[in-house]
Amino acid sequence: MDKKTHSFQAEVKQVLHLVTHSLYSNKEIFLRELVSNASDACDKLRFEALDNAALFEDAPNLEVRVSFDAEARTLTIRDNGIGMSADEAIAHLGTIAKSGTREFMDKLEGDQKKDASLIGQFGVGFYSGFIVADRMTVETRRAGLPADQGVRWSSEGTGDFEVETINLPERGTAVTLHLREGEEEFLKTWRLKSVISKYSDHISLPILMRKEEWNAEKAESTVTDEWETVNKAAALWTRSKSEITEEQYTEFYKQISYDTEPPLAYTHNRVEGRSEYTQLLFIPAKAPFDLWNRDKRGGVKLYVKRVFIMDDAEALMPVYLRFVKGVIDSADLPLNVSRELLQESRDVKVIREGSTKRVLAMLEDLAENQAEKYAAFWKDFGSVLKEGVGEDHQNQERLAKLLRFASTHADEGVSLADYVSRMKEGQEPIYYITADTLAAAKNSPQLEIFRKKGIEVLLLTDRVDEWMLSHLFEFDGKQLQSVAKGAVDLGSLQDEEEKKKAEEVATAFKPVLDRLKESLKARAKDVRVTTRLVDSPACIVVEAGDVSGHLARLLKQAGQ
Ligand code: ADP
Ligand code: MG
Repeated sequence: MDKKTHSFQAEVKQVLHLVTHSLYSNKEIFLRELVSNASDACDKLRFEALDNAALFEDAPNLEVRVSFDAEARTLTIRDNGIGMSADEAIAHLGTIAKSGTREFMDKLEGDQKKDASLIGQFGVGFYSGFIVADRMTVETRRAGLPADQGVRWSSEGTGDFEVETINLPERGTAVTLHLREGEEEFLKTWRLKSVISKYSDHISLPILMRKEEWNAEKAESTVTDEWETVNKAAALWTRSKSEITEEQYTEFYKQISYDTEPPLAYTHNRVEGRSEYTQLLFIPAKAPFDLWNRDKRGGVKLYVKRVFIMDDAEALMPVYLRFVKGVIDSADLPLNVSRELLQESRDVKVIREGSTKRVLAMLEDLAENQAEKYAAFWKDFGSVLKEGVGEDHQNQERLAKLLRFASTHADEGVSLADYVSRMKEGQEPIYYITADTLAAAKNSPQLEIFRKKGIEVLLLTDRVDEWMLSHLFEFDGKQLQSVAKGAVDLGSLQDEEEKKKAEEVATAFKPVLDRLKESLKARAKDVRVTTRLVDSPACIVVEAGDVSGHLARLLKQAGQ
């Protein structure tokens, strides 16, 4: 085929115009896009070769090579993947297959920052090369076609592109960027390496670059003929669990979390079905210093098909699990989906729900089988988990089972199930009291009758407890009831005689109560005879359904 000039589809022209005129920040992402295309091309070859091994020709080791020529000012990304025929090159590099171009452009036009990271999202990654190049040349031959059916595609990224047939012994695609004035940074090994390791470390193919050597004579580094792999080329999470050692998991955790200690627990799963993704999630052994900052973004990195998309993808985890670290690799999301789109995506919702369940299952397993580890976890993260009781109604029951408290029975580690198993014959509610400190809770006069009767009371001293209990009304069919609210009705726990006596006393003391009520009119709603005190003469209680004394104090402290 002779050299022929083709016109870009109108949408491509618009995209190109925007790309070259508006995208300056974050322009390094062009390399991620081109490496990701190279990796896709290798995936496609691998897939087609399942039926036709001859496609591998004599080069079965798939790889990507990144090289540059400083004098010619060119940068080349070469893969030995599937390649393109002439028709494919014209179609794939001249039109935009995916819908959503309009949306892409509206976004870019509206976006003040003109951030190039938007680009991969809309299936126009190839064109991002023109951010830094004033000419792109693609030399490609489709696997299985003869050497004389190679193709050279070339364009300045304006209105049209040229295509001609060339002889190309090597299968696959080489994309060469002729760099614009001012883009010399992409002609430096260290710069390219740093971009590759930032975005493409976990591409499972090796990415090779020429090795550099220090030339003492010239006092500068020079490029040698030897190639070396510059990415880690191992997406740990894509390998099967049985192939990964405990040490490898730990090393990986340390690398992504910057933690110096091994994780407390991890979970690694491949999920198929409605949404396809892999999750590798860790629970740290210790709380980070900024755990209390709810605005802090989460610790889960998002990948799409092994390509790094973003750190701290908070939409992937509920806020109350912000301490979880790890990686989620989706097979469904578009490359470089934005944070805004993540919030709206249904796939992300499915991932978030699935991951939440995994983390809860991991905690349940610890609680059940490794009580000491769970106690350590609870000490550092329990208060954060309690936020979930109010925020995640879908999982409230599971979360309630994971709660641990102090009680009149034990200073720590009391679960609601433990409590229920120790309930007295005839006891209906689960009793609790809230206070600022454990000592204050223990010494509360409101506990006297419960002590006397040997009824366990949960002692809640965490600031979040009161709020949590405004969302958790019952456990295992039993109401949670504050001993400091309303007239504590001990129901059948009180024998007939006690009840009769209380009534008699109330009648006998009616004149006294009336006088007290009159004199305390401005400060107390009611004055009653109570059976809840044993040693103390009187105590103050709050009407059922009102803000408790403890919460009232907290609110006052907070200036409300
Ligand atoms: P996307 O990767 O989202 O499809 P791109 O703009 O990055 O969008 O690439 C457009 C198309 O060009 C790809 O879908 C693919 O068909 C083709 N292509 C790009 N780079 C290569 C390559 N290195 N090898 C084979 N085909 C490629
Ligand atoms: Mg692409």
